Amino acid sequence: MKKYFITGGCGFIGSNFIHFLLEDGFSSQIINLDKMTYAGNKDNLSTIGRDDNYYFIKGDICNQSNVQDILEKYNPDVIVHFAAESHVDRSIDGPVKFVNTNIVGTMNLLNETNKWLKRLGREKKDNFRFVHISTDEVYGSLGAEGKFLESTPYDPSSPYSASKAGSDHLVRSWFRTFDFPAIITNCSNNYGPYQFPEKLIPLMIINCIKGKKLPVYGTGLNIRDWLYVRDHCEAIQTVIDKGKLGETYNIGGNNEITNIKIVNDICSILDSKVPKKNGRSFSEQITFVDDRPGHDFRYAIDATKIENKLGWKPKENFETGIKKTILWYLNNKEWWEKIQKLNYKQERLGVISK
Ligand code: NAD
Repeated sequence: MKKYFITGGCGFIGSNFIHFLLEDGFSSQIINLDKMTYAGNKDNLSTIGRDDNYYFIKGDICNQSNVQDILEKYNPDVIVHFAAESHVDRSIDGPVKFVNTNIVGTMNLLNETNKWLKRLGREKKDNFRFVHISTDEVYGSLGAEGKFLESTPYDPSSPYSASKAGSDHLVRSWFRTFDFPAIITNCSNNYGPYQFPEKLIPLMIINCIKGKKLPVYGTGLNIRDWLYVRDHCEAIQTVIDKGKLGETYNIGGNNEITNIKIVNDICSILDSKVPKKNGRSFSEQITFVDDRPGHDFRYAIDATKIENKLGWKPKENFETGIKKTILWYLNNKEWWEKIQKLNYKQERLGVISK
């Protein structure tokens, strides 16, 4: 019976991962440590039953005793480390939190877990896994050609990606210096249910429905590689089961798409699913706005390693994944309307005054 210590489980990917674990009669323990920042939402996990062997602890990965208490009390077999400040625009407005949580918090988690493992001895350590969930943004920006490999040098552009790069370096150094049982995953942009509506895809879906402008940064020609969140969850579980300690695995969806195409696709799906009474297209709401400072042009993941070595492949393509996602936001209006009422008005973030 595996015990999962999950950090940041009330966020977008963390909550999807917990749902993924609980499917198919999962018979294990899940301990979720989450600070409940603006991005943490207990509603993401409200369908979990009382007998699901699930424990939520409100706390901070930067706090030594929060981490120590969970390790001592629950004796986990695996840590899946999602907790982070995750939005590039917010990292431009307020980088301090990003350095604290993403770098100092990760260091605290590594340090406390390493001390605890040392106390428990070799056998525990041999069977333990620390999986650090990171991003392809650590590699910086690509031109029109090429893809990120696991060996691509780090070259982050934003305070967010720099803080994630810092956390990756710490994890790698704990493996090399302390023989700490860690694996790193670097994944491309995720989309799907429970994504906080500041991110491109939910923002556009919701603004369409609300009749608001659809703000596209710069020319809209920046390219991202999109992965449906459930495919990411399957990849993480594959890494837990079969990944090699000390290794990095790139995870991507093989779906390189410009931002403007994403927005146009969302508009045309909504045009057919919930047509406007006046027969006009949602695409008329598109407005081009000032670009994000330091906006990376293109990200593209080469996921050959995880495919060849561990046998993982994404199941969704963008066409199928985006339809599922749009349907989810149409069917879960209460979920995002509550967020809008409580803590996010969909205002533009990350603008530097000249
Ligand atoms: P998110 O912002 O939706 O969720 C982050 C969660 O972490 C929230 O529940 C928040 O309350 C919690 N948290 C923040 N600071 C904390 C702290 N100090 N202690 C404990 N909990 C804290 O993020 P997400 O999109 O789900 O991303 C999860 C992880 O995956 C992040 O590490 C991110 O860098 C990485 N990642 C995200 C994407 C993506 O497209 N969203 C892609 C690749 C990698």
